[in-house]
Formats: sequence, C-alpha cells, structure tokens
Amino acid sequence: MSEVAVASPSVIDLEKQYLFQNYARFPLILTRGKGCYVYDSSGKRYLDLIAGIGVNALGHAHPRMMKVIRAQAARMIHCSNLYYNEYQGPLAERIAKVSGLDRVFFCNSGTEANEAALKIVRAHGRKISPDKFETVALNGSFHGRTFGALSITGQENYRRDFEPMLPGARFVNRNDIGALEQTVTDNTAGIVLEIVQGEGGVHPLTEEFIGKARELANRHNALLVCDEIQCGVGRPGTYFSYQMLDHPMLPDVITAAKPLAAGLPLGFVAATERAASVIAPGQHGTTFGGGPLACHAALEFFDILDELLPNIIHVGGYFRMRLMELARHFSFIKEVRGVGMMIGVELEFAGKQVVLDCMEKGLLINCTHNTVLRALPPYILSEQDVDRAITVLKGVFKKTKAPA
Ligand SMILES: *Cc1c(COP(=O)(O)O)cnc(C)c1O
Repeated sequence: MSEVAVASPSVIDLEKQYLFQNYARFPLILTRGKGCYVYDSSGKRYLDLIAGIGVNALGHAHPRMMKVIRAQAARMIHCSNLYYNEYQGPLAERIAKVSGLDRVFFCNSGTEANEAALKIVRAHGRKISPDKFETVALNGSFHGRTFGALSITGQENYRRDFEPMLPGARFVNRNDIGALEQTVTDNTAGIVLEIVQGEGGVHPLTEEFIGKARELANRHNALLVCDEIQCGVGRPGTYFSYQMLDHPMLPDVITAAKPLAAGLPLGFVAATERAASVIAPGQHGTTFGGGPLACHAALEFFDILDELLPNIIHVGGYFRMRLMELARHFSFIKEVRGVGMMIGVELEFAGKQVVLDCMEKGLLINCTHNTVLRALPPYILSEQDVDRAITVLKGVFKKTKAPA
C-alpha cells in the first residue's frame, strides 16, 4: 500500500502538467474494484453508485466477464472490418431480437453511435427532398461531444464556444406537445429523444409526449431516434426504455453504448430495414468498431443481463422507495425520479458538497445539472447495498443545511 500512496500525488501532478485541463476531477485515484465497490490508492473502499457513468453495469471484475475477456484477449483482440469475426453477427442477431429492430452497426462510443444515427437521418431526408434535413431534439438533452451530436444537444453551455453547429437542429422543451407539433414539419428528417434524459437531470418523458413524437414522425415521414445510451441497455429493467412504456412503441433508430461491453468501449446504432437501407456500401465505417474482444464481451453481457432484469426492477424500486422516505424527512429534497437503476434526487440547492461529503463517507454518487444527485448503480446492486447508501445519505443530509 505504501508504494501506491507515495506514487499517488505524482499521478495528479503529471496530469496537471501534461493533460488537457478539460476535466474537473475529484481528488481520488481509483485503483481497483470488486462488485459494487471500488478502492482508492490508499486502500479506502467506496460503494460505487455511479459505476463509470453507467458503464460498469455488472460492477467491477465480474467473474464471468473476466473469464470471457481473458480468453478472447488471448485469441484475438482486433482484426478490422476487412474480414468477418466470430462475434459481430451473433451479437447483431441478439440486439435485433431484443430490440425489435432489423439491422445493427457497431462503433466504439455513444457519440459515434449518434453520429451514425444522424447520418441515417440526413440520408433518409435527402432521398425525399433537399430541404428535408432538420432534426428536432429536446432542450436539456445530451447526445455527445462531436459536432453532429453536439448540434442536437440542447444545452447552450456545451455548444457556445464551438458555433456554428450543423444547420437544421431545432429544439423543444421536454413534454411540450404543442411545441413539438409546431416544430415537426415536412422538413423534419428526424426526431431524437432520450426517453429518460440523463445528463439533463434524470427526467422521464411522458407517455403522451413519446406517443406524439411517434405519431408526428409517421405523419411527416421523419425517423424517430431514441438515444438509449444512458437510459437503455437494461437500465430501466427492460432491454430498452421504449419497452417499459404502458404503450410501447418502436423507434426507427436506436443508439446504445455505455454498459454494452461491461467496461470495454462498444456502441451501436440499430435500425429498421427501411432506415438502415439508406446507408449504402462505403458510406459509413469504422476501424475499431465491432472488434472480437468487445463483441464477445457484449454477448456475455447480454447473457448475464437476461438474468439481472428482475433485480434491476426490484432493487431499483426499493432504492427509490427508501429515497422517498428520506424526502419526507428532509424538505430540501424536491423530487425523487427515475426508472430501474437510473435514479435522480433533485435538491433545492447545488449538490456538489453532498457529493463530496458522501465520498468522505465511502459512497460515490454524482451530481448532474447542478442540483440533481444521480445514481447509475451496477445492475447487481442488492438491498443491503441500498441500505448502506441510505445510511450514508441520511448522515450527510442531517449535516446539510439548505442555504437560506
Ligand atoms: C454518455 C451519453 C452520450 C455520449 O456517449 P459517449 O460514449 O461519451 O460518447 C450520448 N448520449 C447520452 C444520452 C449519454 O448519456
């Protein structure tokens, strides 16, 4: 341990000197993890409720994942898309079966998946009319950091310094059906939704709004795209968030990434036959995407996910119930929101200090949109883990004074 402790400050110094200063990191060097827990360089243990921002959905060092990754790394990590590998086809079949969509393209991240989706939207529109290139997205959305994904991200602060964006992005407020009806026209090529907004503060869309988006997309021959990168891939307790609705509907295109390969970079866009057909040979591609290591890991991930769906619903529900109990004691808790293992607690004030106090007490949780404490726990979370988290939160809240 002492060796690590001596090395620790220099890691931070090196980053200060040599890294782009684009991250505001917490002063914590994480060195290993096991299940829902991670350890820092001094050996201190934390219950990890943010789990790599929703990536480590099976927790850390899951024995079945380790076995597959070790064996596959020894056989083949990468072979390019010049050739077939053993796992892209079977994984695409698996995704088609669980999503209800027809075809899949693999990439390496959420942003890349959204870029591919935007190209599908553009190519779809262009086939109909040169004026049909608009994309309708939501205020408060987050779709990624590249120019395309950023252009449809409805948060000024991410975009401001990089203007001008892609032309044709229009924004409406979430759940504002009137605005949606006014904004979607025959020039709309795509409507892009997160069914539960993640970075925007864990805000589920209403059934009415989602239904209206589907109806308007049909009426104006636009593609409905669901960004499932944070709110999907098991997190709601269904494979994808459009499947948890009382009135389930099928999007034309979905994008996914974060938990897909349990920590390895992998993303995909899946689409109906009609939407996928607008991309012809040579029109899109990637060097890394869909490699054998990531795809084999994702197949194992889906096998494990099948078994975990009931736990996500049960323990996620238990967590929200316990948080609502806390909300009755602490009036500065404005609302508890979420689905499955995606939970937001809206405070009356900025949540940063609560996050730091929880860290001190061995609990990693995150704050998004300034005032929303967010948990994206591993799907293996247990009721005992929830009880531990609630004990820490209660202790922290007791000492927290709502600023006057
Ligand atoms: C994280 C996220 C993205 C971007 O994914 P990256 O893998 O960081 O590129 C896009 N959309 C949503 C909803 C996300 O939560």
